[in-house]
Amino acid sequence: MNIIKSSLLALLIIISLAGCANQDKQTLPQSNKIIVLCYHAIGDNNSNYGITAEKLKKQVDSLLASEYRPIGMDQLYGYLYDKKEIPAKSFILTFDDAMISDYEYVFPYLVKNNLKAIFFVPTAHIGRKNNLAEKQIREMNENDCCDFGSHSVSHKNLYTLSEEVLDEELGSSKKILAEITGEEIISFSYPNGFFTERDIAILQQYNYKLAVTVMPGRNDIPINPFEIRRIIVSNSISDDNFKLLVEGDPAIYRQYYSQMYAKSVKSGLNSIARLCEEELRRYGGTTKSP
Ligand SMILES: [Zn+2]
Repeated sequence: MNIIKSSLLALLIIISLAGCANQDKQTLPQSNKIIVLCYHAIGDNNSNYGITAEKLKKQVDSLLASEYRPIGMDQLYGYLYDKKEIPAKSFILTFDDAMISDYEYVFPYLVKNNLKAIFFVPTAHIGRKNNLAEKQIREMNENDCCDFGSHSVSHKNLYTLSEEVLDEELGSSKKILAEITGEEIISFSYPNGFFTERDIAILQQYNYKLAVTVMPGRNDIPINPFEIRRIIVSNSISDDNFKLLVEGDPAIYRQYYSQMYAKSVKSGLNSIARLCEEELRRYGGTTKSP
């Protein structure tokens, strides 16, 4: 995939097309703090989109020191749909794009430290030079620490696709991953974070149960399982800002959502602007007229 293009998109427009108020409003039942972290490749300091192994380790260690406990997406599913218990403060590691570093670095790191992660795979990228091979996905999946979810087939922005193509992107990626892992795939990560209510409806038709966005937040309020907030982490986030995001510091979220609001208004993406307005209000901010 074109990681550069995708990374710029994620960094410059960390926005999602908002779901609408009329959709299925199944919500988190209580106020547990659930931090979902979004990583991509493990790389060197020069990699904007990636993160160094040291920084990943430091972030996980800081969460553990703050009494956050690692859980898997399967536990989040159990919590949301079957009211199963999870720790009051939990975190989930997610890795998008099926980068080769998932196998070379993340997998042994998880095993060694008794952690869990879910890897979101654009299935057309399987076996490419810098991506996971089918054999590696199988090997990782055999270990309890690794779970897999769909990141579509081609990683295109879903809102640009016809219904027919969208159907293929969501249905066939699920089928391919199920064949490789031998398990039903119920989790989805929106390519570049964009989503609309049409996409959510089709995900539900295919029996997906959870979908992660790139809307930042802590998932500590009732939230739709198809609009799970994630904190995108890369080398460009300082240790201090990481801490503020995890702590739910209103000022940093106001800053994020103000920027998103301005961009979405400028781009004419009204549904995103509305969602940003809601988030801004929640964090004690207001929108200025563009
Ligand atoms: Zn991606």
